Amino acid sequence: VHELSIAQSLIEVAIREADCVGAVRVTTLVCRIGALRQVDEVILQEAFRIARRGTICQEGSLSIEKTYVQALCPRCDTRFPVRNWEWRCPGCGTEGLDPIGGDELDLITIEVEIPDEDRRPAECV
Ligand SMILES: [Zn+2]
Repeated sequence: VHELSIAQSLIEVAIREADCVGAVRVTTLVCRIGALRQVDEVILQEAFRIARRGTICQEGSLSIEKTYVQALCPRCDTRFPVRNWEWRCPGCGTEGLDPIGGDELDLITIEVEIPDEDRRPAECV
């Protein structure tokens, strides 16, 4: 259900953007989802197939970009991705850093079809 509401909100944004540019069809949606969101990509794709029915996104595909949690070291300013919950700074060895990001949930790009124009990407705001 979590994934379904995410899929629905992505489609809502895409519909709004598509309207803005006068598109008749959305062919691709690219979203960015942080690791902290704990979104299951397979379930999200399923949810997307359900949620797109009857919308301008009906024939569109969903592309998911995952982002990792990052940390910024206050001592040496190194910014690094946190993998396997390893919080030690690779620059100076400081531990116990604060996370940055990883909770993104954004539609970043849609590709649309506009009458009398070639396919073109539209940046989402
Ligand atoms: Zn450091």
